[in-house]
Amino acid sequence: MIAILGSANMDLVVTVERAPGRGETVTGRTFVTVPGGKGANQALAAARAGGQVAFLGAVGGDEFGRGITDLLTGAGIDVSGLTVSDQPTGTAHITVDASGDNSIVVVPGANGTVTALTDAHRAGIDAADLLLLQLELPLGLVVEAARYARSRGVRVVLTPAPAVPLPVELLDAVDVLVPNEHEAALLAGVDDPVAAARNLAGRGGDVVVTLGSQGALWLHDGGEWPVPAFPVQAVDTTAAGDTFVGVLAVGLAEGVEWAEALRRAAAAAALSVQRPGASSSMPHRAEIDAFLA
Ligand code: ADP
Repeated sequence: MIAILGSANMDLVVTVERAPGRGETVTGRTFVTVPGGKGANQALAAARAGGQVAFLGAVGGDEFGRGITDLLTGAGIDVSGLTVSDQPTGTAHITVDASGDNSIVVVPGANGTVTALTDAHRAGIDAADLLLLQLELPLGLVVEAARYARSRGVRVVLTPAPAVPLPVELLDAVDVLVPNEHEAALLAGVDDPVAAARNLAGRGGDVVVTLGSQGALWLHDGGEWPVPAFPVQAVDTTAAGDTFVGVLAVGLAEGVEWAEALRRAAAAAALSVQRPGASSSMPHRAEIDAFLA
């Protein structure tokens, strides 16, 4: 079982020829709403890849919140730890340019009301093999959850996004750290992402630094293994990292070898970048199997 304590947002996605500069207005091409948020994205990626998933978090009592809840339950995800807040559902305002690069503004809304572990959160973590965390919920809660999981012998996987400096007590409770290149550089205070990852791995635990179309690098116990990206035509990289982490977690929860779990994660991410949107782009287990066959 995989418990995911994290954000659920409605993504409001516009596509543009090029993103506006400061003070500039540009005309968009298309607009869609897609359920997202790093927590919900990782939950959906894991569930689609065949994982048994419990999602812990909060949405608003609004249309966006109902849509997200329906999507999660429809994917077979346990939502008994998902509360309905008096704040609006979180929103992410995403701009995707013609080359598939994105820029994002997040308004936390209900996500910001998840400030302390509840009994339902603890029950979800207790039942899990792995706890997945990101940084779109209040940092104090993330620290509390990581430390609680650690005390219960539940492995903690942290996506340190959005990138902020992290308290040592959080890093000390994390078993698997999965930064992208920018997050690794910020956390380590070193520009080169590989040097940054080495620095982070020096704390102990596993580090997987994702490098976009360059793949990823897994650092474990003083050794380093590249995780090649699959050569595909990217149209929208919005949820690549979340897909990667969600699918990696499924492999680790199933006791699959790390190398195979990472290969499946890279395959799922490669499938997701070929399609627009976040949750809408995540592949099902059969698609991942077919891609790797
Ligand atoms: P994030 O979305 O967190 O910034 P990355 O961009 O590093 O994460 O992507 C995560 C993973 O997704 C990569 O390690 C790689 O396996 C896969 N990926 C990302 N972009 C591409 C791409 N253009 N082609 C193939 N795989 C990709």
